[in-house]
Amino acid sequence: MNEIQLHDKHFEVFIPSTDILEKVAALAASIEKDYQGKNILFLSILNGAFMFSSDLMKAMRSNVEISFIKVSSYHGTNTSGRVDELIGLNSPIKGRDIIILEDIVDTGITIDKVMTLLKSSQPNSIAVCSLLYKPSAFKGKQKPNYVGFEIPDDFVVGYGLDYDQLGRNLSSIYQLKK
Ligand code: 5GP
Repeated sequence: MNEIQLHDKHFEVFIPSTDILEKVAALAASIEKDYQGKNILFLSILNGAFMFSSDLMKAMRSNVEISFIKVSSYHGTNTSGRVDELIGLNSPIKGRDIIILEDIVDTGITIDKVMTLLKSSQPNSIAVCSLLYKPSAFKGKQKPNYVGFEIPDDFVVGYGLDYDQLGRNLSSIYQLKK
């Protein structure tokens, strides 16, 4: 499938599934090299990172743990602004070596929120591994430590990423047809 339609938009292949799987294997190898003898806890950010996380887990040879989290933002009762919270974090993280798994780091706002929330629980270390990274859109504090592909600031779908909830199941990554 070189071209697909999701809702009203047409997309074409940007990164084929074979290239993605090769890159995921390389990321797993470089994480294993850097974390020898450590007991990693991966925190996968839902929904978009589910497919990347699954393939990365299959490529890891050492014993690792994974939990799935979401960032939720709500109006606090005593504050005027919005309050962020992490949903789904049920593993203790004090003293742990954490690697956050993201599908894509765009502005970097999501990662900054997650880092701030996690730091208060005193992990030993936190790193970020993102399959995709848009350096020209990035305004955050924490650049990803591990990146699969640096891409331009264009909208992409597939391999977990959606366009209005469609496209997450695609095994390749697609961009808007030019
Ligand atoms: P950030 O907080 O870094 O701006 O954005 C993170 C989230 O925005 C990603 O996890 C993803 O859900 C969404 N996002 C950013 N860029 C894209 C894109 O090109 N395509 C899709 N489908 N989602 C994106």
